[in-house]
Amino acid sequence: VTRAGEYWDERVEVMSRDEVETMQLERLQSQLRRCLADSPFYRERLPDARDVTLETLTELPVITKDELREEQATHPPFGRFAVASRDSWREVHPSTGTTGAPVNTIWSRNDVASITDMTARTMWQVGVRPGDVVQNAFAYGLWVAGLSVHYASAAIGALVVPLGASVPTQKQLHYLHAGSTVLFSTPSYALHIAEELAREGTEVSELALRVGCFGGEAGAENPSTRGVIETGLGIDAYDYYGLAEIGPTFASECSAKSGLHIAEDHVLVECIDPSTLRPVAEGELGVLVLTHLTREATPMIRYWTNDYARLIRAGCECGRTHMRAAGGILGRHDDLVVFKGAKFYPSQVERVVRSFAELSPEFVVEIERERGGSRIARCTVVAEWRDGPVSDLNERLAAELRAELGVTPGLRVEPAGTLGRTSFKAIRLVERASA
Ligand SMILES: [Zn+2]
Repeated sequence: VTRAGEYWDERVEVMSRDEVETMQLERLQSQLRRCLADSPFYRERLPDARDVTLETLTELPVITKDELREEQATHPPFGRFAVASRDSWREVHPSTGTTGAPVNTIWSRNDVASITDMTARTMWQVGVRPGDVVQNAFAYGLWVAGLSVHYASAAIGALVVPLGASVPTQKQLHYLHAGSTVLFSTPSYALHIAEELAREGTEVSELALRVGCFGGEAGAENPSTRGVIETGLGIDAYDYYGLAEIGPTFASECSAKSGLHIAEDHVLVECIDPSTLRPVAEGELGVLVLTHLTREATPMIRYWTNDYARLIRAGCECGRTHMRAAGGILGRHDDLVVFKGAKFYPSQVERVVRSFAELSPEFVVEIERERGGSRIARCTVVAEWRDGPVSDLNERLAAELRAELGVTPGLRVEPAGTLGRTSFKAIRLVERASA
């Protein structure tokens, strides 16, 4: 394994597509054999999965979060998809969903090792090196990403500042002034930290901070959000992707900033049309469906993420061959707003709002449904002034929103500081009770 140059694990990162697929098929079949042998849950769901290939995998049923929840409620506390021997279990990580019971996933000893290695690979990919000072503002504890960045910092040989997401923001600023070179946080929190640095009058070019890695929610690949973060913190900003059921940081950008490279030796990724449940053509928009190739303890076979993306197989200028999700995660299936016949995601509102220097980066999309129905009767974009009101901005903002969304939502611009800030994941879509 080369650790001196561009790659953390060169053998895996630049292997040919044929080699990738050969490795995936072998790992998929051995994963399915384990699941069928040790998991009654999978035996019931996938009775005919013994000789599945990469092509026929797409015919197996997908697993939704609701099904996992139901399985764990019927067979508490972990469900019958926990397949590794119990003495190998090391950590429990529940999902952080805002609705319904969390789904518990388990990491075995080998899972902790492979997650650490995979995270170190993605950190190396964005330029983290021995000697870096990694300010980890990802939440520690139950959330998957905080601990994995902590472990991976040690694996790389970096110094970690384990602040987590629950200390006062002033403490984050203190350690930025003390010489942190890398910041991990949600993009929402990064925007807040940048605001606070501006408020105290810090010249960000004087900070040692060089690189920022942003996950837990989409946003870092949204050009206007990336611009605000990069300028506000004086860094190169990179997008990270993970989810509790699959694991943290298995996808990240590289120096080319041309999409999320997926660690295809660990996770098999499909892009599926939600109406036909068939794979979409390369580059088309679809929902990501993920299969664990190496996870031991709670393996997922065709997990339905609800996350929209476009996959491209073409090699990247960084030399890596693993598939990329171009532009990152483009929307959550649950967050789709259908208003007056137009369909859009809060991320599109984000793109518009954050392209206006007169506005703060904060915003909320408020929706109100018809009484007793599911149709959205009212949709209002709530933004916030950066400083004071600007006279002609409402018209310009309304025009830009109409151009991006294909519909004109209501618009309300509040005084600076009105909307809440978060150190974790922001809620951008808010449902109001119907009038
Ligand atoms: Zn690349």
